[in-house]
Amino acid sequence: MMLLAIVAAALGGWFSILCLSVFAHRSMAHRAVTLHPVVAHVMRFWLWFSTGTATRRWVAVHRKHHVYTDGEMDPHSPVIYGLPRVIFGGYWLYRNESLKPETIATYGKDCPDDWIERNVYEKHDNLGLVLMLLLDMAVFGVVPGLIAYAIQIIWVSVWAAGFINGVGHALGYRNWDTQEASRNIMPIGIICSGEELHNNHHRWPRSAKFSMRWFEFDLGWALLRTLHAVGMAKDIYVKNKRWKPTKAQELVDAAVEAVESEPAPEAG
Ligand SMILES: [Zn+2]
Ligand SMILES: [Zn+2]
Repeated sequence: MMLLAIVAAALGGWFSILCLSVFAHRSMAHRAVTLHPVVAHVMRFWLWFSTGTATRRWVAVHRKHHVYTDGEMDPHSPVIYGLPRVIFGGYWLYRNESLKPETIATYGKDCPDDWIERNVYEKHDNLGLVLMLLLDMAVFGVVPGLIAYAIQIIWVSVWAAGFINGVGHALGYRNWDTQEASRNIMPIGIICSGEELHNNHHRWPRSAKFSMRWFEFDLGWALLRTLHAVGMAKDIYVKNKRWKPTKAQELVDAAVEAVESEPAPEAG
């Protein structure tokens, strides 16, 4: 039972990071893809249940990170706070920032705002974690359940909040000479669903595809391609261009591009 509990916890934590990457990060924070409402809600529920994440709070902190990357206003930069503090205390840096009303008001726009978000996920964000603990103990027994719960919480906070936000701005290789310290931690993005390719992401924040060189693999992108093939993901962007546009979308994009490339009228 103990082994089963540990495997379930690791898989649950891994799936939480996949939901963070595909739903909260790519779809909500950067509008790089529109997910089918069922897919979006399954992921939104799982993030609340397994990590206590309310979408708007996560999105707001992350958007602020992109605006002030590796500067003093960055909520969780290892350049500012030091690498050990971001790896092991990254969750708390995130949590403190997520409770600032001005951060939510400035960066938390266009996030889920339905009844269940306002009355359950956002209002009682830690209730999901309590329910997961009870479920773990009911399924695996009290002690294995407690251990599984602890493993899952530590797994997600160290990998997602610590590893990506810390190591992803400190150690690794760079494909792009961006203005901040972002790094690709490793080319095969399986453990953290492609978030490992963090320098690629900072260069092209709106891209739903994080892998860019032939040897790089992005698990989140593989999932998005699968969802697209079965009609459950649309309006996907790769770099700053629409991926597989319909004829109508191509015409709209061309019109927008034409307007944007017109010279600005002379002042005065
Ligand atoms: Zn970053
Ligand atoms: Zn981002």
